[in-house]
Amino acid sequence: AAILSTVLQGRSKVYRADLEQAIDQLIHIELPKVRIFKGDNMMALRQFLNVLCLFSPLNVSGKLLLQRLYEFVNGSTSGELTGMAFQAQVQLLEGMQPKVFKARRYVGCIASGPFLRGFTCSLWTLFHYFTVQASKSLILPAGFVLGTVHGFVKHFFGCRDCVQHFMGMSERRKIFSVASRDEEILWLWEAHNEVNQRLEGDITEDPKFPKVQFPTLSVCGNCQINSLHNTTWQRPQVLSFLKELYDGRNLSNYGLP
Ligand code: FAD
Repeated sequence: AAILSTVLQGRSKVYRADLEQAIDQLIHIELPKVRIFKGDNMMALRQFLNVLCLFSPLNVSGKLLLQRLYEFVNGSTSGELTGMAFQAQVQLLEGMQPKVFKARRYVGCIASGPFLRGFTCSLWTLFHYFTVQASKSLILPAGFVLGTVHGFVKHFFGCRDCVQHFMGMSERRKIFSVASRDEEILWLWEAHNEVNQRLEGDITEDPKFPKVQFPTLSVCGNCQINSLHNTTWQRPQVLSFLKELYDGRNLSNYGLP
């Protein structure tokens, strides 16, 4: 209850605990569910681990764990790996080093009731965070992170409906034509807002966290101009806002032990 009221009162923030929970669930639950990594989904896995290694907000042990996992997956000479072998390797590597995952609950993604928010919220947060880190580091070519998000959703996101919608939207919004890192940030922002609009009033909506077009005026006063019937987004201001919000240096440690 204390976390929920803090988050509801606070301005928009990104919490390290949510990113950690997302990665925790991904490597311990979602990826081990995959029967076999081979061909396209192996490529998607390698690409995803590559981005995680570069930008993960985990501590030193966490970064080491991801690096070793990436090397293990890349070192598979047959180019194939079962989900069970992936899971066994995670356990083996975790046994060799200090505990990595300490967050025990969501903070910014906390829900007001069961079956709401949580993992999917943390996944969006992780994806936005990736696009912003990529724009700051310049290590990866433009488009790489969106390609990675696309591959991840296509092959590993458990919500079938969401995958279908996201694939349709990616084609319509030409995800593979995005030509700059800043445009990657904005592509994901607009795509997420499209999903928010579609889900407004849906049964999956948490009443305490209604679906809105983001960022709202209350968190970014100059991101939109409103007339009676229209909202005009100020894209340069939205970009600056997102770069600030999802910057690794601005993550909140609230809720972590
Ligand atoms: P979320 O929408 O999960 O957002 C998480 C946080 O991101 C918010 O709290 C806010 O701080 C921030 N945020 C919100 N909008 C933006 C934005 N535009 N740009 C940057 N930051 C933003 N559910 C379905 O029922 N059907 C679907 O088709 C579907 N498709 C999905 C596709 C993907 C790729 C993902 C990751 C999730 C999808 N979901 C879908 C889940 C759904 O979008 C929400 O994650 C879920 O309903 C929980 O919503 P939430 O209120 O926690 O906020």
